[in-house]
Amino acid sequence: MDFFNYRNGELYCEEVPVREIASREGTPLYIYSRRTLLHHHERLREAFPEPDFLVCYSIKANSNLAVIQTLQDAGCGFDVVSVGELKKARMVGADPEKIIFSGVGKTEEEIRHAIRSGILMINIESDEELIAVDHVARAEGKRAGVAVRLNPDVDPSTHEYITTGKEENKFGIPIPEAREVLRKCARLPGIQLLGLHVHIGSQITTVDPYVKAVERTIALAKELEEEDLPIRYINMGGGFGIDYRRGEALSAADIGEAVRPLASGGRWKLLIEPGRFIVGNAGILVVQALYRKQMGKKRFLVTDGGMNDLIRPSLYGSYHRIWPVVTDEPEGEGSFPAADIVGPICESGDFLAKDRKIPPVEAGAYLAVFSAGAYSFAMASNYNSRPRPPEVMVDGKDWKVVRKRETFEDLIRGESTWESGSA
Ligand SMILES: *Cc1c(COP(=O)(O)O)cnc(C)c1O
Repeated sequence: MDFFNYRNGELYCEEVPVREIASREGTPLYIYSRRTLLHHHERLREAFPEPDFLVCYSIKANSNLAVIQTLQDAGCGFDVVSVGELKKARMVGADPEKIIFSGVGKTEEEIRHAIRSGILMINIESDEELIAVDHVARAEGKRAGVAVRLNPDVDPSTHEYITTGKEENKFGIPIPEAREVLRKCARLPGIQLLGLHVHIGSQITTVDPYVKAVERTIALAKELEEEDLPIRYINMGGGFGIDYRRGEALSAADIGEAVRPLASGGRWKLLIEPGRFIVGNAGILVVQALYRKQMGKKRFLVTDGGMNDLIRPSLYGSYHRIWPVVTDEPEGEGSFPAADIVGPICESGDFLAKDRKIPPVEAGAYLAVFSAGAYSFAMASNYNSRPRPPEVMVDGKDWKVVRKRETFEDLIRGESTWESGSA
């Protein structure tokens, strides 16, 4: 479900023709639908209602301030993985009591910043990190609320790069070792043990792995209670899949129905950390066709958007639906000749799609790359010294640039040349 739709052969974001924004702002260009963001957030809130549940948006999926602020205004909590994300959340007025800090490699400075901000909890990923948090908290004269991230050894059946809860992944602590770490929490004066955390991967499209992971987590929570180590929060992480093609995603209601009974009764507060589910389908990347090229049987469509703008196809082999912004055939895959849709970057791995059948387009045509709201602009780079694209947010008939296109000055900010004697 999203608010990108064709009307009379022309793609609209909510009430605004995509062509209008693209011709004013140029391409490549990201466009976000505010209504879609809010829609997904509301579905999750219905499936996981407060006060027994708390939705914490995982900012790393899309950290544009307007996105964070839209969710803040809707009452969402936040999951952050850096001081930069923490500061952005605070900037838009996020309540520290609704912020959690994740990540395997937090520095001492990040830990200090998190503790000083008074956030709800830090997710601990190793025994050594626990000791570091205890030290910093004591030096600050505080107790840091923590959850211990478990590695529940559950296979979420997703891409290996976005699997995080199997034994061979770097994330979390296997349950047998976690018992020792959890007992240690009770002995450290700088630590207040609040919860157990799991996050098993991303783009997960079945409920089974969640049920398994939450069952294992709750079994451990019960065990700990018997040892007089009460657990207040169960954090089941994020990873809820979205439709990149059609019909693969779970609904928020499906996930809620499967998981709620496990954690019901108000004995624990259940946290979820969705990123992709909220923003993934709320964004598109608009690119412009530059050249058509044929070599033997192989056809290419070269566009002005490449792997520096959207790296997911190159990095994970991800599928993004791509379709002309203006077309007589807004639906269907059709019997068009297949082409690789590629960017301008000097890498053979620079493609948006391989062997894709789309209606024939001329140079100058705009193409929409769908489901580009999550891990898309957030992973954009300046490779090949290309400025990053602008981001636009649409709300009904209104739209606004919420991040300007970078300029040459932005590209060279902080750089200097080497002149003899200047060191
Ligand atoms: C990235 C991440 C998430 C969000 O994952 P999505 O697949 O975008 O929902 C949640 N929790 C943690 C700990 C993460 O690292």
